Amino acid sequence: MGLEIDQFMCRSDNFGVLVHDKASGETALIDAPEESTILAAVERTGWKPSVILTTHHHADHVEANLALKERFGLKIIGPKAEADKIPGIDETVAEGSKLEFAGHRIEVIETPGHTAGHVSYYFPDDGVAFTADTLFALGCGRLFERPAPVMFESMKKLAALPAATVIYCGHEYTLANARFAITVDPTNSALKERVAKIEKLRADEKPTLPTTIGEELATNPFMRWHDPAIRKTLGMENAPDVDVFAEIRKRKDNF
Ligand code: ZN
Ligand code: FE
Repeated sequence: MGLEIDQFMCRSDNFGVLVHDKASGETALIDAPEESTILAAVERTGWKPSVILTTHHHADHVEANLALKERFGLKIIGPKAEADKIPGIDETVAEGSKLEFAGHRIEVIETPGHTAGHVSYYFPDDGVAFTADTLFALGCGRLFERPAPVMFESMKKLAALPAATVIYCGHEYTLANARFAITVDPTNSALKERVAKIEKLRADEKPTLPTTIGEELATNPFMRWHDPAIRKTLGMENAPDVDVFAEIRKRKDNF
């Protein structure tokens, strides 16, 4: 234990996340969205990163890689499937890769869909996972490089993590996600309560993250393909799970 996490805003709606092990003084950075805001967070916390865990190749997740590597001499780890698009990458990972950060075990979960090689990092002993642009609070990433059935498999893997797992995501998209979620799941009282909470947090300019797997299972339509009320709303009572998921993703694209 002894993992401390600092989450801060970068760019317009990206999250930067520093993960710090108190005992060893070591720090990891999850993605590198923006140099200036990351340096400000390092300054504020006093936590100097020695490694970047990269989730996927999009510019808003790797833009500061080279600048931070130069400044801190840090190591950059990222998915093998898109290693050629990740600046400064030193070490590649794939499904089931086991990493260690300051004695904390990390399991790599391939979560393709948003991009072809997107990975999530799960710290099983600490009960925390970093899902970037795969699983958002009340949402899931846009399908840029792989179709809905691929993202569906990724979401199933994340849905299988323990309910108490704390989830950090790549973006503050929750309010927009909430407005969509309520259209496909209008009778879900847990969702209605959560939407009210989110509106209040955003009105106060506070982050809505992190979330938990349990909270997403109860309220995120992209994890609720089995739900009879959602299926009824969609007119898909007897459809395969993957088709329900794909329909929800399609409706969100057009929302
Ligand atoms: Zn992305
Ligand atoms: Fe992103």
